[in-house]
Amino acid sequence: MGDNVIDTPNVLLIRGADVLGEGRTDLLLQEGRIVDSGSLGAPPDAEVIDADGLVALPGLVDLHTHLREPGREDAETIRTGSSAAAAGGFTAVLAMANTSPVTDTAEAAERVWDLGQASGLVDVQPIGAVTKGLAGEELAELGLMARSRASVRVFSDDGKCVHDARLMRRALEYVKAFDGVVSQHAQEPRLADGQACCHEGELSGRLGLPGWPGVAEEVIVARDVMLARHTGSRVHIAHVSTAGSVEVIRWAKAQGIAVTAEVTPHHLLLTTDLLTGYDPTFKVNPPLRPEEDVEALREALADGTIDAVATDHAPHARHDKEHAFAEAAFGMLGLEQALSVVSTVMVEPGRMTWSQVAQVMSSRPAEIAGLDGHGIALAKDSPATLTLIDPTATYVVNREHSQSLSRNNPWHGRELTGRVQATFLRGRQTFTQGKVLA
Ligand SMILES: [Zn+2]
Repeated sequence: MGDNVIDTPNVLLIRGADVLGEGRTDLLLQEGRIVDSGSLGAPPDAEVIDADGLVALPGLVDLHTHLREPGREDAETIRTGSSAAAAGGFTAVLAMANTSPVTDTAEAAERVWDLGQASGLVDVQPIGAVTKGLAGEELAELGLMARSRASVRVFSDDGKCVHDARLMRRALEYVKAFDGVVSQHAQEPRLADGQACCHEGELSGRLGLPGWPGVAEEVIVARDVMLARHTGSRVHIAHVSTAGSVEVIRWAKAQGIAVTAEVTPHHLLLTTDLLTGYDPTFKVNPPLRPEEDVEALREALADGTIDAVATDHAPHARHDKEHAFAEAAFGMLGLEQALSVVSTVMVEPGRMTWSQVAQVMSSRPAEIAGLDGHGIALAKDSPATLTLIDPTATYVVNREHSQSLSRNNPWHGRELTGRVQATFLRGRQTFTQGKVLA
């Protein structure tokens, strides 16, 4: 450090936060840690934050974010995606590998890692590709990525399925050596028309849109849990979207197979009915499903069959979305409203507690990804990495008010309850009162 660096005392007292919705306490933050909790007086020089009426959770962790850099910096950059994450209450995100070039080497992973560090708003942990160039033909440098400065632990060809069973088996065997996990985009390509753009059902027939049947997802989920059993490795199912997948995962967990799963906020709330307007905002992969599937996903999240909520934040430039439904790009924004959607769908109706939300949006994702320093209960000596939520705040989402470079927001115009008020990463406030603090 140079002589001109001023070491400012950074003592913060968060007064009266309702930790996990289980009781009010004061939290004293110093040098990146929670140094005391309970009923505390403010030390001299401390900045005091009044958290009366706010719920405190450990900082949120997203297992599935598309940051688009390198390659599509017109849609998002690591910096803008990090801002959106901080605004959404996140303190760590896992960046998917389907960038251009693909994150399939140690150098590529380190580059993403370094850019995340430079943003400083959230910890950006790269996900490595399973196969070179996501081509599904040859394994990528899994070991080199794992041993790189970025310590990659999660591997995924997301956007595509690792559909070759032999390659999937080898990937699972390989990652076992360093307790890695393969996150699978479960979708058997031979069961889906190349033009598929929505859920295959009565409605897709009526709209004249080619669809995927739910079974295209379910057969891969079933195959992969059997491969996980055979190899003794961990498999993670990305963006589970059907009731059938939930059934298979429930069975696999009962057998003691090391399978974990995530669901997106949009699959917890939006249904195929939205497609009647042919609005490409609602075009996503896996597609929105009928109400029966949505209900099964809510139930599975509440009972722990699904481990985590992950956003699948997928920013797209306007010119990639402004097409006829069949031609538009797949994907929706997710980081900024994820917590509010979970609050609206699961907490408000009494289906989950805030403590359970902390599990599915922070501690379980951190465990699955092997991330240190995140998802840790808020107590004395823990990292000061947390988010404050106003559980009763109600707001109407406006897509123009966004930290993301993109505007493909499926929640635009919707009223949601529960809002992130502030985010802290290792004691530093990254978001407050609607502003990201650079
Ligand atoms: Zn994705």
